[in-house]
Amino acid sequence: MTTTAIFGSHVLAEQDGQPVVLRDRWVITEGDRIAAIATGRPKADIVLDAPGRFVLPGLLNLHNHCFSEAVARTHTEDGAGRKSNGSIVYTVLLPLTKTGLDIFTAEERMAVARMGVLQLLKGGATTVMEPFRNGLGEMFDAALEMGLRFYGAPYLFSTADAKADASGQVVYRGDDGAADLDAWNALHARWEGAGNGRIRLAMSPHATDTCGPDLLRACAARARELGAPITTHLAQSRQEVDTIGQRHGGRTPAEYLDWLGLMGPDLLAAHCIASSDSDLALMAARGATVLNCPRVFARGGTTAAFGRFAEAGVRTVIGTDGYNMDLLGEVNAAAMISKIAAGRPDVAGAPELIGAVTRQAARAIGREDLGVIAAGAKADLTVVDLTHPHLQPLHDPMRALVWLANRANIDGVMVDGRLLIQNGHFLAGDERAITRAGAAAIEKLWALPEAQAAFNS
Ligand SMILES: [Zn+2]
Repeated sequence: MTTTAIFGSHVLAEQDGQPVVLRDRWVITEGDRIAAIATGRPKADIVLDAPGRFVLPGLLNLHNHCFSEAVARTHTEDGAGRKSNGSIVYTVLLPLTKTGLDIFTAEERMAVARMGVLQLLKGGATTVMEPFRNGLGEMFDAALEMGLRFYGAPYLFSTADAKADASGQVVYRGDDGAADLDAWNALHARWEGAGNGRIRLAMSPHATDTCGPDLLRACAARARELGAPITTHLAQSRQEVDTIGQRHGGRTPAEYLDWLGLMGPDLLAAHCIASSDSDLALMAARGATVLNCPRVFARGGTTAAFGRFAEAGVRTVIGTDGYNMDLLGEVNAAAMISKIAAGRPDVAGAPELIGAVTRQAARAIGREDLGVIAAGAKADLTVVDLTHPHLQPLHDPMRALVWLANRANIDGVMVDGRLLIQNGHFLAGDERAITRAGAAAIEKLWALPEAQAAFNS
């Protein structure tokens, strides 16, 4: 069993259930587990003793879309691609990613998946939950191959080819999600528990306006039979709220999920920006989690304030969604946007935000063994180099992490006891080759006339 000892000038640990930053400690791992936090220099197979490192529990990014992020980058900023309904989800991202899956070879899909996983690891994430279309099963292969801890969340739709009409309403073709549930079950049978348990599945009905009652009930029943977390998009827009109200007797999207029995501690609901205060009270009462992804909305001029959800008493965690996949950048944005939204500086403080990508995120997926540095926990670690000039002198490492650090300061990443990133570089593959191949595949999609038309019309 491989042992590794990593020296941290600062180590984020827990005392009596509260986060505490310890000075000058060694974090020792043995196989896939954390063995101890020690003061004296230990003996180990691998010893990392660079000065000025902040050793954190492995960061969890529980809402991410590798494929649509890579497709959209630099095409959708500054209002590009937005039609009358103001959103690019149904007009651009879903149709284009579907087209991509139709035209890519398996090798090209794998190239895109590898580039996404590389980007996530270099950003410091050790656990990622990724909702994606069924046709992109290569996400599982790439996560397994490259060492990431991965909750694959293949979408289920009632409306298989979800598109918005001219008014922005999603065209709904009835409750025909049985085929997607069959496909999900097949992926579960193939992948659940692979890679020493690193690879798992989450149940992932796409959204309230693309999934009807029968499918959502079936999803909840199956997920609970298996103990799989459930994730969906909830109250992403005003349009969705109107649509659900019209279809389901005036219910809000949150009430719709509650009516169908989905609203519980195992539900992770992305965005919730069009939720009412009473929706948030309902989510808090049921123990559900909000997945807050502030930057993808900031890009479109919309506020998605972490602080609003957290202050309503809802467990709130942070993900990158389809934008940039830089978790530290996202945490920084969560801090800023929360303070602007509240008009006060004393909301969404650094320890709370770091908790949202460590301990709270782990709890949201029922994992007491993740998001914490403690003996017996999984050996998932994120190491940040605090010796950069923009981080010195260092008075408060938690604030430094949220306010000043960025993804280029990620020095080490360990998942399941295996060191994947060292000195900021991926150890088990050629970064430049992975990036080149992924970019070439995405370019093939952008060469299509319909891709050009989506943005130029
Ligand atoms: Zn999403």
